[in-house]
Amino acid sequence: MEVKLAKTAGFCFGVQRAVDTVYTQIEEGAFPIYTYGPIVHNETVVQELEEQGVRVLSTKEELSSLKEGTVIIRAHGVGKHIYDLLEDKGIRLVDATCPFVRKIHRIVQKEGANGRKILIIGNARHPEVEGIRGWCSTSSYVVESIEEAQNFTVDPREKLCVVSQTTFNYKKFKDMVEIISKKGYDIIVLNTICSATEERQTEARQIASQSDAMIVIGGSHSSNTQKLFEICKKECENTYHIQKLEDLDLKASQSIRCVGITAGASTPKKIIEEVQKHVGIKF
Ligand code: SF4
Repeated sequence: MEVKLAKTAGFCFGVQRAVDTVYTQIEEGAFPIYTYGPIVHNETVVQELEEQGVRVLSTKEELSSLKEGTVIIRAHGVGKHIYDLLEDKGIRLVDATCPFVRKIHRIVQKEGANGRKILIIGNARHPEVEGIRGWCSTSSYVVESIEEAQNFTVDPREKLCVVSQTTFNYKKFKDMVEIISKKGYDIIVLNTICSATEERQTEARQIASQSDAMIVIGGSHSSNTQKLFEICKKECENTYHIQKLEDLDLKASQSIRCVGITAGASTPKKIIEEVQKHVGIKF
């Protein structure tokens, strides 16, 4: 019986870095410590941090009411107005924005200053996209679907800079860029998709295709976990989605010779290791 754990399972570089940043602040005793939004979409991690005195702020109003402390910006990043707000209030800011997202902030700031309007390919309601828009000094637009790309129009004299949300699907990005490019605008296109998501999906697909059962670990509201589940299920009918070890109801069977395991971007290593160990002992 073989257990195959995906190398890309769990936190990506940016999320790991953000979580480590919070623990460093705890060690340094920079209390009161706040994160602006949950540092990662995982209740276990957020609760553990809360027990250590880290509070989650959800709104700009909550930020505005702070008198002291340290505010940690998560990997998704935030708009410039949040940096300005904290600076005005003299609140210490610790920036855990993923460097790949920070790069997009710099691009849109520079291209905006060059007179280009920014077109973001992504989900307008996602905090990362909201943050990117917050660095655009000129107008910004967001398109998410092929249909929106087809319907997209601006003044023909406008110059555009196209960027992407880091987790956008590459093929869809390419198709949408092709549609927009044909409209005859003066555009520059920068592919700012981060490879972490794609690598995780490719590996999950490969492991699932070679496994008799596949376990996908991740939050029930995590869209990237949901996507991993769909990918694995296509390759391996026996695919299970669990949030933690207790959810696992995998029956030992002689026909199972290989179990694959992968996990979404917000799943802590500890949970993955627990599942891996349990499966290894049980079978
Ligand atoms: Fe993770 Fe990539 Fe997002 Fe950074 S940009 S947080 S590495 S998925």
